[in-house]
Order: sequence, then C-alpha cells, then structure tokens
Amino acid sequence: PRISERYIKYKLKEENIKMIRVEYTDLNGVNRSKLLPVDMIDHVFEEGIAFCTAIMSMSFDNKIAEVDYIEENNYDDFKILADPSTFKILPHIDNTALLLGDLYHNGEKMKQSPRWFLKRMIKEYQNLGYNPISANELEFFLFNRKKDGAFIPYTNKAGNCYTSDYRIDPNQFLGKMTETFKEMDFQVLYMNHEFYPGQYEYNWKHGSVLRNADEGVLFKGISKEIAHQNNLFITYMAKPLDDNGGSGGHFHFSIEDIVSGDNLFFDQDKADGMSDLMHNFAAGILKHAKALTAFLAPTINCYKRFQPNSFAPYYIGWGYDNRTAFLRVPKERGGATRLEVRAGSAAANPYLALASILAAGLDGIKNELEPEPISEEDLYYQDIDERERVPKSLELALAALEKDQWLKECAGQDLINNFVKLKELEVNKFFNSVTDWEWDFYAYHV
Ligand code: GLU
Ligand code: MG
Ligand code: MG
Repeated sequence: PRISERYIKYKLKEENIKMIRVEYTDLNGVNRSKLLPVDMIDHVFEEGIAFCTAIMSMSFDNKIAEVDYIEENNYDDFKILADPSTFKILPHIDNTALLLGDLYHNGEKMKQSPRWFLKRMIKEYQNLGYNPISANELEFFLFNRKKDGAFIPYTNKAGNCYTSDYRIDPNQFLGKMTETFKEMDFQVLYMNHEFYPGQYEYNWKHGSVLRNADEGVLFKGISKEIAHQNNLFITYMAKPLDDNGGSGGHFHFSIEDIVSGDNLFFDQDKADGMSDLMHNFAAGILKHAKALTAFLAPTINCYKRFQPNSFAPYYIGWGYDNRTAFLRVPKERGGATRLEVRAGSAAANPYLALASILAAGLDGIKNELEPEPISEEDLYYQDIDERERVPKSLELALAALEKDQWLKECAGQDLINNFVKLKELEVNKFFNSVTDWEWDFYAYHV
C-alpha cells in the first residue's frame, strides 16, 4: 500500500514522535543521516535536507577520495527528499521515526546515487512489461563486547548451525531483535544460526526489489544499533575471523509479468521448468560475473570469503540446487522458480548489488543470450581454467568493471568513477599498511 505524506503526519502525532531521522546509503553502503525535530516534516518532503557532497567521496576512514565532479563543485550541497514509502517508526529509540530519501544535486537526480541506479534498472524492466522480484539473505557475526574491549563470538561452538534453544541464542537477543523488525513491518521470514560461532542468517520474503534494498540497508544499520544497546556488536564484514568462513549476502531473483503477476521464470513445457527468459537472465549474470563482483564484494576483505568448501563461490558457473556455484537454481518451480546469486557478500551495498545484477540480467534478456551448460558437479574441485575463477582481489574485479561497457552504461559514468576512486583509495591504503599476520609470519624469520 502507498503511504501518503498525510498518513505519515497523522502517525507522527498519534505516536507522539519528536524526532525524524532522514537517511541515505552512500556508495560504500554506509548509512548517513540527519536528525530533525518533527516540526521539520514539511521541509523533509518539500525542500529536502542538505548534505555536503564531500560525503559521497568519503571512505570508511573519513579520507576524501579525489573525485573531479565533487571537487569542481567545491564540495557544495546535495539534497535528500524523503520517500514516504520508506517510513518507519523506530521501536528501539524513543519517539523517533525514520525516512529514507532520494538524492538531488542542483535540482537533478544525483548521478552517483546507488538508489537511483536501482530505480532506473527497475524501470528498464517495467518498460519491457516485467516486474523484477527479489529476496535478500543476510549473514552476519554477533559478538559479546568485553570490558577490556575484546570481541567474543556470541555463541561458542562451530557446530551450532540450525540448532535450537540456548545454543543459538543464550541471552534471548535474536528473538527480541526479530520482534523489533516485525514491529517495523520488515518482510523478514526467518533466521537461523549459521556454520560459525556467533554467525546468523536472516531471510526475506520475495517482493519489490526496491523495498528489498531499502529493508536491507535499514536492517544492517538498525541491527547494529540494537546490538549496541545490548552491549553486543554486529559486523557485516565479509570475513571477520581467521579459520572461519565468511558472511554472504545472497540475492534471489525472478521476474513477474507486470499485468498478470505470473512468474515468467517458470515454463512448464521445458524439461527443467526454466523459461527462455530465465536462461537469458542467467546468461547475463554469468557474462558479467567478474565485473559484477566489484559491487557484490566491494571491499578488500571480501575476497577472503571466496574459498573452496566455504559455500561461497570459487569458480564462476551455475548449477541446480548447487551451493558451490556463483548462481544457484533452487529446486522449487511454479511461482517459486528463481535464481540465487551466491557471490554477494554481506558487506555489499544492497542497492548496488541488486542494481548491477538487474543490469547484467537485462543484457541477457535484451540480447537473448544463452548461458553455458548448467553444471552438475561440485565446482570447488573441478579442473577449471583459472580464467573462470571469481576474481581473486578487489583490484581484479575493479579492472573487470572498468572494461565492462554495458555495466558502465547502466550504472552511469559518474557513479562508476566515484565508486572506483573510493575503492582505489582503499586499495592504496591497504598496500601501505602492514598487517599483524605479516609481522608474525616474517619479522623473526627473514
Ligand atoms: N556463508 C556462506 C557464504 O559466505 C553461505 C552459507 C549458506 O549457504 O547459507 O556465502
Ligand atoms: Mg547462510
Ligand atoms: Mg542462500
């Protein structure tokens, strides 16, 4: 249902809301906000709330990347206009509501905005009579915070995957957190303990891709906040611990007919139940897999997650209900026929991940691409050409992105430039910094 500004104003009064948080997600997937007294509500919808453009080129450590477009404009303002459909009353913060918004620079849609990229891609599908559908899966690690500053995993056994009771939630935190998200009408369906100590996964109901992305970014921010209130810590870092696997952000996709609502990925006349459209979409993903990885695994750390036996992909390929693949075809058919992109890491910006997957799929659809034959094997131990490997590093994924004309056109040159500049800053920083591992491994021995 469409939420109107009038309804929001009524709710603000009824719930005695005093503060509004206006928020957006930057290229790194960091949520940025301003907190306003509730009497600013008209401003939020009509004039917009100003932010400094420098923030668009700011890295995780507050350093500003050199992005021409932003420097040329002398770090001027852009504005956020709130999107009423994103309205949430925050159950865990007193008298506070939240709105996400769209970015405008000098009265125009801001070209670097990840949310605009996603909206544009959705529109491309709608123009073809399609309604793209997605569902998030998000994994994360939860830690207890000790007085001395140490982080201890919330649960202590690696074998807790899918177990129940105190073994997965000793202090009844996750139940309460889930309830908070349900109060905000998040489309989360279920959660479970994952393979590693303190690791969890939440799954979403399938639906609008934009809503999915909005709830994805909000879930990340708000879950961290709730954890903090309970003296816990959540990270969506892709591979936070030595000797343990990492956290994925898998995305499931299908395409509905915009009129009938039928799932167009299903074709009952095909032996495997997959339509030509689904084949085309899969072909687009596989064709652009390496460049896509820059958005699906956008930090240096993400590449440590792509290991054999990790249930994260190692080689690029697709398979039937195959958890070793980049792209999995889950068993269900009929209305639930779908593709799961498993390369996504928890650290990905959901807008950029979903938008770039839609862009890759669109190439497949518009150009009626046929995918390589589907693999029936364990892709971890095949004798596969190194060229078919998921990029080994952020630099290699970025190089693939810079060669990918189609993705660059879909995302827009300004977004790509800004993203690549930010990532180059990150890579250069890393090359300048010596890790503990290097010290331990080399210092005494060489
Ligand atoms: N943790 C795995 C990953 O990094 C996924 C495990 C699963 O299939 O849920 O993608
Ligand atoms: Mg999982
Ligand atoms: Mg999954």
